[in-house]
Amino acid sequence: MALPVLTETAVPEPSPGRVSFFSFSRSELSDYLAERFGFSSYRANQLFQWVYQKEVYDLSSMTNIKKSDREVLEETFAFSELEYSNRQVSVDGTRKYLIPVFQDHHVESVMIKQPTRMTLCVSSQVGCALGCKFCQTGTMGLIRHLSTEEIIQQVLTVRKDAANFGDMFSNMVFMGMGEPFHNFDNLERAILILNDDFGIGLSGRKITVSTVGLVPAIKKFGDSPAEANLAVSLNATTDEVRSEIMPINRKFPLEVLLQTLREFPLRRRKRITIEYVMLGGVNDTEGDLRRLPKLLRGIPCKVNLIPYNSNAGLGFESPSDDKARHWQRALMKEGLTATIRWSKGQDIDAACGQLVTNSIKSR
Ligand code: SF4
Repeated sequence: MALPVLTETAVPEPSPGRVSFFSFSRSELSDYLAERFGFSSYRANQLFQWVYQKEVYDLSSMTNIKKSDREVLEETFAFSELEYSNRQVSVDGTRKYLIPVFQDHHVESVMIKQPTRMTLCVSSQVGCALGCKFCQTGTMGLIRHLSTEEIIQQVLTVRKDAANFGDMFSNMVFMGMGEPFHNFDNLERAILILNDDFGIGLSGRKITVSTVGLVPAIKKFGDSPAEANLAVSLNATTDEVRSEIMPINRKFPLEVLLQTLREFPLRRRKRITIEYVMLGGVNDTEGDLRRLPKLLRGIPCKVNLIPYNSNAGLGFESPSDDKARHWQRALMKEGLTATIRWSKGQDIDAACGQLVTNSIKSR
């Protein structure tokens, strides 16, 4: 398979008509308002609080902003919301949302119910260019990057619906459809809005970005003001197997990827999550188990073992539960922190690697 061309995405240019409020980080909004209307940065703070904290999108209700300013803002900004077109609720409480983003394209967002927290899993692209062989989203190819606005709208849509269930997400992961680092600029701006105390106010400790290992983007993320944990989907201990199941490995092989992780600037006491999707008989041999701790030497990390979900038609098998537990014990003996992520929402195809929007897949 030809490797995809990994392009940077452009910052959306405000158009002559109304622009989406959700496209701006607070500092961008502040600059925009100062340049166009001479407003102080205080206005951006107020707008962020109304929209992201009080969930008020109607400017006429923003009573601490004077009327003449509200009228100007009314002509400038659109606060359009996305409505989900379908919501499925799993027997384990996990909820999957199908959200139309443009024309007849959809993305999926998943609210994962865990004993002590709710984690919102969001998409960063419609489809994905990277074609990992075990992943349903990869079968779609890349349809389009999501804009910052669309990433944020997903979060707001699910947050609004959470009230119907009396819960709220406490954590967020960029592990839905798409490779988040392939859509770096929009991801970064969305995280800035999520992190912002005047915005959604989710600390970087509560957000995780999962990548298959786009090395230049990992380096860029290390220097970014956007704060989130880094997770890397490793899934093999040899280049041969990894290139077979994850074509991106041909561009950034294991040695290059792992060295990048060794050099990644981590805050004190923080660790990288190494995700390892266990594919029965492919990457879960005793040889793999011996090699993995050696490969991870020098990387402050924890390992998250993810027993594969059997996806129809992709040709991989789940490992046994015993195998997963054996790996966990063996890795812990080697001094690594190792957890097993048992699947959630399998009955509604919301589990890891199962996100694909059928309306697009059937084309
Ligand atoms: S695992 Fe992630 S990067 Fe790979 S094809 Fe699926 S969505 Fe894309």
